[in-house]
Amino acid sequence: MLKALTSTCCSHTSFGANIRRHVTFGDLTSPLLRVLQGQNRKSPYVFRRFFCSDSTDGSEPVDPEVKRVESSDDEAAADSKSSSAIVSTAFRPEDYLTVIALPLPHRPLFPGFYMPIYVKDPKLLAALVESRKRQAPYAGAFLLKEEEGTDGSDLEKNMYELKGKDLFNRLHEVGTLAQITSIQGDQVFLIGHRRLRITEMVSEDPLTVKVDHIKEKPYDKDDDILKATSFEVISTLRDVLKSSPLWRDHAQTYTQHIGDFTYPRVADFGAAISGGNKLQCQQVLEELDVHKRLQLTLELVKKEMEISRIQESIAKAIEEKISGEQRRYLLNEQLKAIKKACKFELGLETDDKTALSDKFRERLDPKKEKIPPHVLQVIEEELTKLQLLEASSSEFNVTRNYLDWLTALPWGEYSDENFNVNQAHKILDEDHYGLTDVKERILEFIAVGKLRGTSQGKIICLSGPPGVGKTSIGRSIARALNRKFYRFSVGGLSDVAEIKGHRRTYIGAMPGKMVQCLKSVGTANPLVLIDEIDKLGRGHAGDPASAMLELLDPEQNANFLDHYLDVPIDLSKVLFVCTANVLETIPGPLLDRMEVISIAGYITDEKMHIARDYLEKMTREACGIKPEQVEVTDSALLALIENYCREAGVRNLQKQIEKIYRKIALQLVRQGAVGVQLQPDELKAKSGSVANETVIVEGSDNTAEAEIVVDSASDQNPNSTDQSGTSEDTLEADKIHESETLEKVLVDKSNLDDFVGKPVFHAERIYDQTPVGVVMGLAWTSMGGSTLYIETSQVEQGEGKGALNLTGQLGDVMKESAQIAYTVARAILLEKDPENPFFANTKIHLHVPAGATPKDGPSAGCTMITSLLSLALNKPVAKDLAMTGEVTLTRRILPIGGVKEKTIAARRSDVKRIVFPEANRRDYDELAPNVKEGIEVHFVDDYSQIFELAF
Ligand code: ADP
Repeated sequence: MLKALTSTCCSHTSFGANIRRHVTFGDLTSPLLRVLQGQNRKSPYVFRRFFCSDSTDGSEPVDPEVKRVESSDDEAAADSKSSSAIVSTAFRPEDYLTVIALPLPHRPLFPGFYMPIYVKDPKLLAALVESRKRQAPYAGAFLLKEEEGTDGSDLEKNMYELKGKDLFNRLHEVGTLAQITSIQGDQVFLIGHRRLRITEMVSEDPLTVKVDHIKEKPYDKDDDILKATSFEVISTLRDVLKSSPLWRDHAQTYTQHIGDFTYPRVADFGAAISGGNKLQCQQVLEELDVHKRLQLTLELVKKEMEISRIQESIAKAIEEKISGEQRRYLLNEQLKAIKKACKFELGLETDDKTALSDKFRERLDPKKEKIPPHVLQVIEEELTKLQLLEASSSEFNVTRNYLDWLTALPWGEYSDENFNVNQAHKILDEDHYGLTDVKERILEFIAVGKLRGTSQGKIICLSGPPGVGKTSIGRSIARALNRKFYRFSVGGLSDVAEIKGHRRTYIGAMPGKMVQCLKSVGTANPLVLIDEIDKLGRGHAGDPASAMLELLDPEQNANFLDHYLDVPIDLSKVLFVCTANVLETIPGPLLDRMEVISIAGYITDEKMHIARDYLEKMTREACGIKPEQVEVTDSALLALIENYCREAGVRNLQKQIEKIYRKIALQLVRQGAVGVQLQPDELKAKSGSVANETVIVEGSDNTAEAEIVVDSASDQNPNSTDQSGTSEDTLEADKIHESETLEKVLVDKSNLDDFVGKPVFHAERIYDQTPVGVVMGLAWTSMGGSTLYIETSQVEQGEGKGALNLTGQLGDVMKESAQIAYTVARAILLEKDPENPFFANTKIHLHVPAGATPKDGPSAGCTMITSLLSLALNKPVAKDLAMTGEVTLTRRILPIGGVKEKTIAARRSDVKRIVFPEANRRDYDELAPNVKEGIEVHFVDDYSQIFELAF
């Protein structure tokens, strides 16, 4: 029966179970195994004796060998002759009715099982040795009762002190006849045989008792209940054995050597291997009713199974935990290996810390001498910190980025400057026409640098209307000085952090613009162009203007401290060039530190030069057109400037020229395309007649004609025209190719509007002769200077109706200035014509066209007075006169700004005479002669002088 159950559970091994078995049955299992595997292995007989000595019921073992051995104890005794080491030839268990009683402390000995015990009593041990020598190796093994009121923990210790009667009284009545198989020192190995019951004590020391050999009660082998119970025991045992390989071995050996189990043996086996306590086991031992014994055993094995299940689940849980940890460990190891492989085999240096600091050190080494010591110290500290930080931490990234910036800056690296004045002059002239002030200033700067041996940083501010070349000259200056160029705009900038950088603790922190600049240019002496400094925003937190001051001020910027960088950097060698349209909005302290160079705008003559020598050339190259393919006449250019591009700058002029050249490019390409389509014979006919002609493209209407006439101004391949494939055709095509260079598109005043459309700019001058009440003033805007009219007219007249009405989007200053003008005009009229009640009785309307443009400023004061007086006196103002000047209530004329712009604007409007405040005489004298050409200027300091000039 058990054979089947052991074979089914061989596959299952549970380490945890083994451990427990060893603990629980330690006294039984390990020596048993030793015996099984060791000393007695050679003698299968021993096994047989071992497990089956007590076959008292004479039941039927199947193994013939076993049968032979097990048929009866007598036979066994007979067989044992062959193994003299164990039992003498004359051995008969039945003879043992008086035996030495051995106390067992932990468990009873079951028949067929093996047990080592320790005998501490020397007398007892000597008696046992003696009996073995006398070939009578049997004793009675009895379980020791626990002393009343003790927990049995010191039972073993007390046991050795028990002697004689005391010991006798403490023994359980039912025990086992035990064969002494060997004695090693004080260790005695017993094998259980049959059950015994003590009847009386024979002698005290050693304790010898008289015993009866007892047998199970007879039972019916075919009894169903018995069968069922025993099957249940077996099936439970099978479950238990599944998780206990140790007992499986036992069972295997047990069956191998004693053959089939009988019911009582099943019960004994189950009880012996169960973990039941000693009293329960003793109960099984004492039970002679087979059915009852089986039931008792069933209880024990069921309990055993329960324990084994719990044990299994505990083992499983622990195993899972261990395997989880193991997996994590394994994955970590794998990751490490992959990273290593990435580094060495793929050359990818992931976030390997050493590789990173190596990189930084590599960057650092060449410039180590030039780096200031305090910066070097910070870098070293950060490098050490980097090694200590966890690579995945955010702090690590912050440090890495910080180091990246620190090591990338050009500490003490300067580009070799150009101190050659002539060469610089040449470069500046190459890029820009005019702008003498700016160029002169730069040459001075170079000269100073040459004399000193080093150049210093400076702040230059270029102010002027858009498109006058402020930005582009900045670039050109950098080229002339051989400095790196960096440009950034501060228009609308309101965040101080843009200039000063964020503190490193913020996520996504960045250094300020200046540090970014140094990193990107790679030198510590670049030219930095700060665009639109007049449009600096107002910060909600911190003032960008103050930050700019800190950046620009030569007193401070030698130790400029960026919040992100946190170490001072030296900006004293940087040349700052700022651009602005107006100076008024530049913060005072900032303006104070700048050298302002005004670029007023260009007069027509200058624009002609710029257009001819710079813009046209540039555009032509940009459009891929050869100089010989186009001619823009002077008259066309003049018309373009006068009628289309009258503003101060040349950006619009540049756009118009680009427009012209784009159109020309398209025409040239179209002509080329037509040329391809021409038939060879057509070509023959045409090429001769048109080859040397200059074709005037007469606008879009005539383009078709022109297209036919101009044959091949394009990129066509001569061979591509070759349709017939004859050599003659190729010759023709070559001729055409030659003629290509002679074709020219001519842009003249007459066809200019074909290219740029109708003139968008009408003359500022609306009147040839200004009517009564209208006077021309001169204004200045951020776009440059312009002329404007001030008109007054009478609304109604009547006693006491005198009033002033203002329109034309005037600002507060201009409104006040109108009020002043009204008062002054009234006073003057009273002087000149005391009888005239005009102002007292007339409601006057004063308007400044164009009504859609907002205007402000005090400089129209004298113009308004003149206009009011002209109306009051009903006299038109002298022809071609324009004026500008602020007037006080006492009629004094105060200076105004933008003299050059206003002069240029006056010239544009064909004004012949200008009135300027006396205080502006110096400004005017400084103007270039070509600007002043053809203009008559009157400087005045009192309004009465203007009155004389105007009327
Ligand atoms: P701004 O910065 O003053 O608005 P830019 O520097 O952008 O003007 O100039 C606009 C264009 O006009 C540029 O292409 C520049 O080359 C051209 N330009 C301006 N002034 C001159 C000049 N004096 N000579 C040659 N080109 C000029």
